Amino acid sequence: MEVLYSSTRSKGNPVKASEAILQGLPEDGGLFVPDHIPALDKSLKELAGMTYQETAYEVMKLFLTDFTEEELKTCIERAYDSKFDTEAIAPLTEAGGAWYLELFHGSTIAFKDMALSILPHLMITAARKNHIRDEIVILTATSGDTGKAALAGFANVEGTRIIVFYPKNGVSPIQEKQMVTQKGDNTLVVGIHGNFDDAQTGVKKMFADRKLAEQMRAEGFRFSSANSINIGRLVPQICYYVYAYATLLKEGKIKEGERINVVVPTGNFGNILAAFYAKNMGLPIGKLICASNENKVLYDFFATGTYDKNREFVLTSSPSMDILISSNLERLIYRIVGNDADKNKELMAALSGQGKYEITEEMKKGLADFYGGYASEEETAAEIARLYHSCGYVIDTHTAVASAVYGKYAAETGDGTKTVIASTASPFKFTRSVMNAIDKKYNAMGDFELVDELSKIANTAVPWAIEEIRSAPVVHDRQCDVDKMEDTVKAFLHL
Ligand SMILES: *Cc1c(COP(=O)(O)O)cnc(C)c1O
Repeated sequence: MEVLYSSTRSKGNPVKASEAILQGLPEDGGLFVPDHIPALDKSLKELAGMTYQETAYEVMKLFLTDFTEEELKTCIERAYDSKFDTEAIAPLTEAGGAWYLELFHGSTIAFKDMALSILPHLMITAARKNHIRDEIVILTATSGDTGKAALAGFANVEGTRIIVFYPKNGVSPIQEKQMVTQKGDNTLVVGIHGNFDDAQTGVKKMFADRKLAEQMRAEGFRFSSANSINIGRLVPQICYYVYAYATLLKEGKIKEGERINVVVPTGNFGNILAAFYAKNMGLPIGKLICASNENKVLYDFFATGTYDKNREFVLTSSPSMDILISSNLERLIYRIVGNDADKNKELMAALSGQGKYEITEEMKKGLADFYGGYASEEETAAEIARLYHSCGYVIDTHTAVASAVYGKYAAETGDGTKTVIASTASPFKFTRSVMNAIDKKYNAMGDFELVDELSKIANTAVPWAIEEIRSAPVVHDRQCDVDKMEDTVKAFLHL
């Protein structure tokens, strides 16, 4: 059955999957949601015999119904190839009584690669299907991680260009090095003299500029977004939950149909929403445990039914989860309000007006699958040390938030259900925080010294993504003022 996508903020005008991917966002400011969640049409036993790529096809074909089998399989083959350093693509590691689903084996060693390695292929396929000949120009503002993952995904993909703006003095030295060494003639990386909000505002302004859009069209270009709210990023994330379950079944760790719990370190709510969709496809998942760091807006929301972003923004050691507005939560709100676009719109208007909204008792019932928890900075560091000292397994700071929350959940509820923890980044990406958590003596070492030391104590080779930047030449040294962002884009496109 065909799945169509419509906005969370207005009824009518449903579009096909390829159109939703191309467009990115509906014009009314809402998000595209599927009109129904399709059920898995293969048995769990059948799925247990499949590779990652085969599993991805079985999941994605159900959501992206206007893509042909050949189109989808080609996208999948191009995405999940030797860019990943393991054939399993998303392997499971058992440690300390849980399974860690390692989503960091792609080119930038964080889970964003799982979706951003396929999005460019879905996008150019979607363009072709819709007879769009324009070159697609991806415009992104980044505070660090998304920029590099998007660059790696789109570099040298024919028919696309990618422009990334980052705050010149607002990202970590490793993050900057990762971006400015990015190869690919179709890539441009620019440091702006401003902060992340300035970069974001500048990009949004260009997206909304009709005159610029016209000028672009005349020269055969159009903007698109690789932002995490594109359904072309959400759907590929469902696949690894199905794959994780199938792997546990294949290895005899669970019985067919046995429920598992899933813990997800959460920021923008995309990853855990994908797990929720997997559950709704019929995957036997019990609780969806939503783990936050000290920016615990979501924990408070699940506890009280009030979403309130009016609070201090805390900089933590898990920066990819330092978020006060979890955009993808809107898709869940839309659902628990009974797929009522008007009601959802009211709540979102309250969020942008007063910075908060409250859901009804009736709506709260729709959240029964979720459990919210959070971990402080101390608890996160202690969890890294505990796991390392008890089983020699080293996890990154984001994964540690999830792991710590799982420990608290198990102690509080006594729930002994087998559990998968989404491991969203390699510890090599956050080496200093990770090593300091294990032993304060490491604080004196330099960045790459620490990398080598981590490799030793974790008994793991240094990932290529890190090895590469030790010696890679800087190829992007462009900087600009905030009010010159548009000129920079035009110069790159020769407009
Ligand atoms: C983006 C990110 C997250 C948060 O994922 P969401 O889908 O935004 O909730 C968690 N950990 C890491 C390492 C990330 O890069």
